[in-house]
Amino acid sequence: MSGSVQLEGAALDAAVFHERLRERGSQHVMGTYGDRSLAFVRGEGTALFDGAGRPYLDFLSGLGVTSLGHAHPAVTAAVTEQMSQLVHVSNLYWTEPAIALAEDLALVTDWPDAKVFFAQCGGTANEAAIKLARRHGKQQADDKVRVVTLSGSFHGRTLATLEATGQAAKHEPFEPLAGFVDTVAWDDAEALTAAVGPETCAVLLEVVQGEGGVRPVPQEVLLAARAACDAHGALLIVDEVQTGLCRTGTWFAFQATSVVPDVITVAKALANGLPIGACIARGAAAEALQAGHHATTFGGNPVTAAAARAVIREMGHANTCGNVLERSRQLDEGIARLVGSSPYVTGLRGRGLLLAVTLDAPVAKAVEVACRERFLLVNAVADDAVRLAPPLNVRADEVELMLEVLAAALAHVAATTTEDTP
Ligand SMILES: *Cc1c(COP(=O)(O)O)cnc(C)c1O
Repeated sequence: MSGSVQLEGAALDAAVFHERLRERGSQHVMGTYGDRSLAFVRGEGTALFDGAGRPYLDFLSGLGVTSLGHAHPAVTAAVTEQMSQLVHVSNLYWTEPAIALAEDLALVTDWPDAKVFFAQCGGTANEAAIKLARRHGKQQADDKVRVVTLSGSFHGRTLATLEATGQAAKHEPFEPLAGFVDTVAWDDAEALTAAVGPETCAVLLEVVQGEGGVRPVPQEVLLAARAACDAHGALLIVDEVQTGLCRTGTWFAFQATSVVPDVITVAKALANGLPIGACIARGAAAEALQAGHHATTFGGNPVTAAAARAVIREMGHANTCGNVLERSRQLDEGIARLVGSSPYVTGLRGRGLLLAVTLDAPVAKAVEVACRERFLLVNAVADDAVRLAPPLNVRADEVELMLEVLAAALAHVAATTTEDTP
């Protein structure tokens, strides 16, 4: 009795807290993100706590960012120590954390000749990769500046990366764009081969399209991209912003394929929530950008670099990639049990812990809401697909709990949807 009264009180507190933030936020924060469904004050591991201290099971990790869970102690310790030493000096001077991080990245890519440019996020890492590819192209011919990308891709929101993003709806509000990108169907190897020519400086793609609906790109498309780049002296850039740092079960998604890119970009999980991006190149690509070609004030910031070093160290020590593969198998089996026993569910797509539960009706948004009402955070990445991207150190019991809540949410959506049908 008193328990349920208390819970109602907590729900009220959380709603009031959320409403207050909504009012203030809509006054002075630009409305680029539409309405936001919840407000949070604290996180710990796989849990996020609302304004009344109620825990939510976080199966989104800030869109693949807090891969070691919220407030990871090793990251907090590294940041705190670096904060008290040195925060910023500009790129006029050397600092050690960024150099050590570049060395770490050369190890985990397994590229002994890797060179790294540090940016602030995924978009700015891709921006650097595009500029790098244009320099590399212009060393061969002045008009070798075109980029080939795939439909459904997502590469960022700066003007260049927006254009490279294969989603027309995101372009339309800003057209005309510069017109240096050729987009081909994401699953068509022949179209990709045909699109790459003497004016192409790069092919830019994801191994598993994240925002585009968690869709693994077919192996033959990856092979075609590598072959076409080699044939035309273009660079293969793999955007690992969402897939990088163990998300798909290997340090980088390309490492589970037979294709080795010239450049990769990483960002989201690299510093477990602090803003950082990196453009990592090997071979001739590593020499394409020289003094004066590209720069950014905050790139290689000692604090974010220290956080990223802690992430890589922790992922190595804890065998995070191993846990990703085990939990991925557990989810595979769990979702297979839901096919037939729960409404809508047809299967699971994706790799490692970048997954989407596929549905046979456009009810993903309703499922997202029903999960939220049951204190589980997931998101509708398409009308008929619900994305799961938990922290990579998620435990087996947390996966089981998520499966139970998801089943309850699906049953609720089916029950209410039937009522609505005349
Ligand atoms: C999120 C994302 C980006 C953009 O990263 P930002 O940090 O938002 O600039 C680029 N590429 C991929 C694959 C992403 O998932």
